[in-house]
Amino acid sequence: MNFEIQILGCGAATPTAKHMPTSQLVNVHDKLFLVDCGEGTQIQIRRYKVKFQKIDHIFISHLHGDHFFGLVGLLSSMHLLGRTKQLTIFAPKQLEAILEVQFEASQTRLSFPIKFVDSIVKEKTLLLEDKTLEIYAFPLKHRVPCSGFLFQEKPRKAKIRKAFIKLYDLGIEEMVNIKNRTNVERPNGEVISWKECTYDDPPVKSYAFCSDTAPSPKVEDVIKDVTLLYHEATFHSSLKDRAVTTFHSTSLDAGSIAAKCNVGHLVIGHFSSRYMDKSILLEEALTQFERTSCANEGLKFVLKENPGEIEIQDMNRSKSNCE
Ligand SMILES: [Zn+2]
Repeated sequence: MNFEIQILGCGAATPTAKHMPTSQLVNVHDKLFLVDCGEGTQIQIRRYKVKFQKIDHIFISHLHGDHFFGLVGLLSSMHLLGRTKQLTIFAPKQLEAILEVQFEASQTRLSFPIKFVDSIVKEKTLLLEDKTLEIYAFPLKHRVPCSGFLFQEKPRKAKIRKAFIKLYDLGIEEMVNIKNRTNVERPNGEVISWKECTYDDPPVKSYAFCSDTAPSPKVEDVIKDVTLLYHEATFHSSLKDRAVTTFHSTSLDAGSIAAKCNVGHLVIGHFSSRYMDKSILLEEALTQFERTSCANEGLKFVLKENPGEIEIQDMNRSKSNCE
């Protein structure tokens, strides 16, 4: 059951020779979700050889350009390549009109339907679910309405220990109940506990995307104990004042939030272009939380079955990270 996050862009504000604006692909159980779509996203998708027609759901955190300016181009390419499948876009509701103006001006009638869902919420809200996954939006603290996104596996069916099938001579219906975490009550009054008969659960994996945001206790409540947290660290704490006035976080903030929320692993991103060398930001976050990595275009964070284990793959096939 795969659960992977691939960084397509992790720069703030403007594209640079080093970084693209925010965008990432979240692949959970072979379903592909795009989170934010800064300028150049479709080029990144091609560079990393991802089939973008497989993306059926796009999540846009907010309407600052570095988080959605790549969208009209991506949609246009999907159209030109003959997409017919519906696409669902979770975004602030003004986005629909913004896109309409652009397609109207070019007299483009898209070859596929788009369903728009407002992603701006007052509290943690379920946006999408299937048999194995739930995706929530939650409010971030930014200059414009902005949402974070939480991807969370649903608990799987409980796994029965074979010895207990024999011990209690479990029937098929009884086994179904136990797998569904329900105690079995027999006509003679005997109660068989599902917990006793099953293996301990592997922990469910989860991923929280927090960009852009100032530190906020409300956000911390939602992201507690997530397996992987992507948190913006636009500035070093030497520019704390700038972070406060622009409703962003520092690398010190990101590290201390990860520690406070007991997350499994932290990835910092949304770097201001003034930092040619990201190690200053990584080092500061590491003073607060040791399991921290720097985002970089092409890095893939793979959540493993072993609790808390993260494998980092470099899709550029080079070792570069926080150079
Ligand atoms: Zn922003």
